[in-house]
Amino acid sequence: MHEGSITSQIVENVLREAEKRKAKRVLEVHLEIGKLMFLNPEQVHFWYQMLTKNTILEGSQLLIEEKPGTVKCPKCGYEGDFQYVDDPALHMPMPTLNCPKCDGTVKIVSGKDCFIKTVKMLI
Ligand SMILES: [Zn+2]
Repeated sequence: MHEGSITSQIVENVLREAEKRKAKRVLEVHLEIGKLMFLNPEQVHFWYQMLTKNTILEGSQLLIEEKPGTVKCPKCGYEGDFQYVDDPALHMPMPTLNCPKCDGTVKIVSGKDCFIKTVKMLI
């Protein structure tokens, strides 16, 4: 479950920032998560609630924005969204590293990142 470790990193970062600014409470945390992180937002919410208990983040609102990934093909120069294939085992479309134009192998440009966009705090 990598949601737990990623969420704890996020919480630590927000806490550090809040301490630096001597915040009394953190009201809202806005996250941007790349689709290729394969994080389950529900799990992130769950861990967030667990990890913020008894901290100044307790009760704050967590907003999660999912960012689509981008790929680039070194062969034909295609740049854009992933090609998705339906995975019958998972019942959901999974991104592949096949170029939708030439069937070459694409490189991931973005979507594997996760960062804190904004934090609202009470100072
Ligand atoms: Zn291509």
